[in-house]
Amino acid sequence: MSRPDVLIVGSGNAAMCAAIAAAEHGASVLVVDWAPKHQRGGNSAFTGGAFRVAYEGASDIRKIVPDLGDEEIATSDFGSYSEEKYFGDLIEMSSYHTDADLADTLTRESLPTLLWLVSHGVRFIPIYGRQSFVVDGIRTYWGGLTVEVSGGGLGLVDTQHEIADKAGIRFLYGHRVVGLTERAGQVTGVITRTPRGTEQIEARSVILAAGGFHANSEWRARYLGRNWDLAKVRGCRFNMGDGIRMALDMGAAPAGHWSGCHSVAYDANAPEFGEISLLNQQKNSFPFGIIVNARGERFFDEGANFRNYTYANLGRAILSQPDALAWQIFDDQSFHLVTDEYRMKQMSWVQADTLEALAHKLDGVDADGFLSYVQAYNDAVETGTPFNPAVLDGRRARIGPVEKSNWALQLSKPPYRAFKVTCGITFTYGGVRTDSDSRVLAQSGDEIAGLYAAGEMQGGLYFEKYPGGAGLMSGSVFGARAGRHAAAFALET
Ligand SMILES: Cc1cc2nc3c(=O)[nH]c(=O)nc-3n(C[C@H](O)[C@H](O)[C@H](O)COP(=O)(O)OP(=O)(O)OC[C@H]3O[C@@H](n4cnc5c(N)ncnc54)[C@H](O)[C@@H]3O)c2cc1C
Repeated sequence: MSRPDVLIVGSGNAAMCAAIAAAEHGASVLVVDWAPKHQRGGNSAFTGGAFRVAYEGASDIRKIVPDLGDEEIATSDFGSYSEEKYFGDLIEMSSYHTDADLADTLTRESLPTLLWLVSHGVRFIPIYGRQSFVVDGIRTYWGGLTVEVSGGGLGLVDTQHEIADKAGIRFLYGHRVVGLTERAGQVTGVITRTPRGTEQIEARSVILAAGGFHANSEWRARYLGRNWDLAKVRGCRFNMGDGIRMALDMGAAPAGHWSGCHSVAYDANAPEFGEISLLNQQKNSFPFGIIVNARGERFFDEGANFRNYTYANLGRAILSQPDALAWQIFDDQSFHLVTDEYRMKQMSWVQADTLEALAHKLDGVDADGFLSYVQAYNDAVETGTPFNPAVLDGRRARIGPVEKSNWALQLSKPPYRAFKVTCGITFTYGGVRTDSDSRVLAQSGDEIAGLYAAGEMQGGLYFEKYPGGAGLMSGSVFGARAGRHAAAFALET
């Protein structure tokens, strides 16, 4: 095989944006993935395809979704999500830890990068079901997360691979990249492990887009802490931290929140690793119900903010409860607001017409504790404040140990439905340091010649909290930048 200008490790969203951008800039590109072809696309293939993009109202949405009709525009309130708000969210949600250069580049480049994907044939649609409510006849988008790829994550990955095929990009599947080769401090290729043994592939530059370490139970226990080896993996089984490790071995600086990760409420009986045929095992409509632990008590403010801003910390909260289990409970007045995640076949759930009957069906929960807690919770709901799911309505329940800050409804209308959940890990936040052009940096701050990184394995953006949809957007922004810069570097040397 001839030596490629740019070799890319991984075939998820960050990798494919890098590959397409590098090819567009005249480089020959080889993509190497550990996964077999039918499991290509990493975590990206498991996503809902939601992208967090900065936009100013309907006119920008129309650029992203060119076939949006006048009628739809007239009956929708898309709101806006400015670059400043996006940047502010990243700063605030990270408690001022986020790398300001990366955050600034992500927010400024989000819309141009999305339009670049559109120009290549990726189709976006508004997120009708999960991110809007109809209020007074107007479809109102509430969370700054307004567009998704038609066909979700699989649709995104399939389209990106079609674009790559047309651009003449080559692929090697079933090759686990285990190391980098170098000469005089410059990266010269990779070492792969295949069923035939170890092989070496030379390249003029290398882009690592091999994801984080969520699938590695040993690293999870080591870096995230006690019991994280028990978490279920929502997505790809190949993200073992290999890309991060080989960059660190080359002298890259670690960056970001190594003990932090994105984790959600996830079906208690879901398989150990994600399966594309079983998407939607997360349970994210918790703002409209309550979540209780084995004592029958709430432990998380389900209404602290819109769920886009809180869901990524719920998995961790559940993991720290007895037996790492919890139940989400809804009565019939709010159940019409929950998403399709609560209507799939493979779910662990129970239903009853009275709270007493429900209490005895909640496996592992103290029934008396639950009933007395719900009584106290119902008494604490501020029923005088109007309920409105599309805004932070301030309808509280003032109760210990944790108040509910918005959308508090009494559990009073049967049937009552309860969903058994545990912690599902989505991806990890720790990674390697890069500059905003995706060059991998050493501890000294110097770049490692010929080495780039993008996507989940790039550390420094998320700390403790994560704004939904930023993962795909940052993978696209920094993937495309990595592709352009790696191509330029390879063609100059
Ligand atoms: C169920 C689920 C839903 C999600 N929904 C959304 C969403 O709607 N919006 C959003 O923004 N984010 C979402 N995310 C997060 C999102 O998936 C990630 O932020 C993003 O996809 C990461 O892209 P990536 O290219 O960095 O990594 P990945 O897409 O995970 O790609 C990593 C690639 O590296 C390969 N690889 C790993 N190790 C090696 C090795 N040693 N050698 C060769 N190849 C290797 C893998 O096989 C894979 O191809 C979701 C995640 C999950 C799990």
